Amino acid sequence: MKVVITGGAGFIGANLCRRLATTPGVSEVVALDDLSSGDAANLDGTGARLVIGDLGAPDVLDEVLPGAHAVVHLGARPSVPRSIADPRASHLANATGTLEVLEGVRRHDVPQVVVASSSSVYGDNPQLPKHEDLLTSPVSPYAVSKLAAEGYASAYARCFGIGALTLRFFNVFGPLQPAGHAYAAVVPAFVAAALAGEAVTVHGDGRQTRDFTYVGTVCDVLATAVVDQVVHERPVNLAFGSRSSLLDVLDLLEELLGHPVERRHVDPRPGDVRDSQADQRRLRGLFGSVEPVPLREGLHRTVEWFRSGTLD
Ligand code: NAD
Repeated sequence: MKVVITGGAGFIGANLCRRLATTPGVSEVVALDDLSSGDAANLDGTGARLVIGDLGAPDVLDEVLPGAHAVVHLGARPSVPRSIADPRASHLANATGTLEVLEGVRRHDVPQVVVASSSSVYGDNPQLPKHEDLLTSPVSPYAVSKLAAEGYASAYARCFGIGALTLRFFNVFGPLQPAGHAYAAVVPAFVAAALAGEAVTVHGDGRQTRDFTYVGTVCDVLATAVVDQVVHERPVNLAFGSRSSLLDVLDLLEELLGHPVERRHVDPRPGDVRDSQADQRRLRGLFGSVEPVPLREGLHRTVEWFRSGTLD
């Protein structure tokens, strides 16, 4: 089967390309990416074909989609703070971009599309754990753009019979996730600073909680989803119901590194939610064979990747 991955040169996309290279039944992987935050080098050794282009451009989609059995739509302008800095750009890439991908899927009769959404759509709804049928209450332009992407996927499934699966990713971390830029995610930012012997920057008191998910686990779900052509009429959380604070992550990091990590607390970030934890029942019902890599093991693998720069 042929699988097209939008955003395939990004963090999750390149990990997925690597996974699909050894997945029985997958014969061709195409990564479509404009390299705005991804890196062509992420695809070294994966065998995936990189097509550099804009996922929002119909002619680019017409080049990559013919013959595809599945599209994993990961291409997006991620990050809450980036969306606050430039809401229009996030809308264009994430909402309009998804609409164009779905149009492409429809034009080329691709049997399945998997759409990456985000736990940020729950926003300031305080209820925990986050069940998929809770009221969504986005508090950032990024979250709104992801909710729009979900809505389009659902509407295309109903109106045009497209096989769609929308997955709400929580905090994904692991090898290939970059640190050292203004919008870096928390785990790579912590690991890079700690390995460099620098103080880590903690927004707020550090007691905000997240359902951290190792990227290898996310790839297990995505690979199973495309091979088994899993679809669902409602969004599905992609996280396993764990709840760790940023301070918990730092404690684990200190344990793994064997030395204390200095913390520098700064103001909380606007648009960030306080607590996040997935209700995992729908995911478990669809992907019962997937077992998550525990946080400690995932952090260990992430530290090793930062140290060595090589993947298993
Ligand atoms: P990433 O930035 O590494 O990957 C996104 C990729 O999309 C990049 O390679 C980028 O170059 C590409 N891209 C952006 N705009 C494009 C365009 N117009 N045309 C073609 N390519 C384009 O981020 P990631 O962490 O790998 O995220 C993958 C997906 O998962 C995104 O949709 C993101 O919103 C979602 N997500 C991620 C997390 C997380 O914790 N990493 C959490 C929730 C949701």
